[in-house]
Amino acid sequence: MSQKQPHSLILLTGCNIEPKQELLIRAAELLHQRVGRVVAHSDIYLTEAWGFSADELFANMALELQTTLEPLEVLDLTQAIEQELGRDRAKEQEQKAASGERYCSRTMDIDLMFYDDQVIQCERLTVPHPLMQEREFALRPMAEIAPHRLHPTLGRSIGQMLEDIEKNNDKTR
Ligand code: AMP
Repeated sequence: MSQKQPHSLILLTGCNIEPKQELLIRAAELLHQRVGRVVAHSDIYLTEAWGFSADELFANMALELQTTLEPLEVLDLTQAIEQELGRDRAKEQEQKAASGERYCSRTMDIDLMFYDDQVIQCERLTVPHPLMQEREFALRPMAEIAPHRLHPTLGRSIGQMLEDIEKNNDKTR
């Protein structure tokens, strides 16, 4: 019987509600149990909230997993883990409506950044994750575990995309 080849998946987990470190570690454990073997993970990086104002810094971790699941199966499981770790989407909608901002604080956010070098565009999922090339908070942890991974449509590696942002930051300083 032929065995399914695992796919290489890169995820970014993030949260800005305490206990941040514990939540990120718990998310990594649940991902390992349910989605696939975690073959690499970055340190935890603390950054200012992006796209909205928040008192608490965001904590992010990038993980590389080997999975035999399909992308939408992965999304179902990551959304269930977000919920299990306290994410309440209905409450977030209320907060966003009250603040008028597009984003808000959350106990757990799990984004699918890369799935092999596939380009996926459907109602529920865009992979590679859109705008990653503009988000230093996403690129920095990913660059720690997969600096040479190429973005399939931009043709730039994660390390190069991070350098591009750093150069831009220097220019605007
Ligand atoms: P968020 O509020 O950041 O968790 O966004 C969640 C929504 O983005 C969900 O409705 C997902 O279906 C959708 N989505 C689209 N592409 C992705 C992706 N690459 N990773 C995670 N969620 C995604």
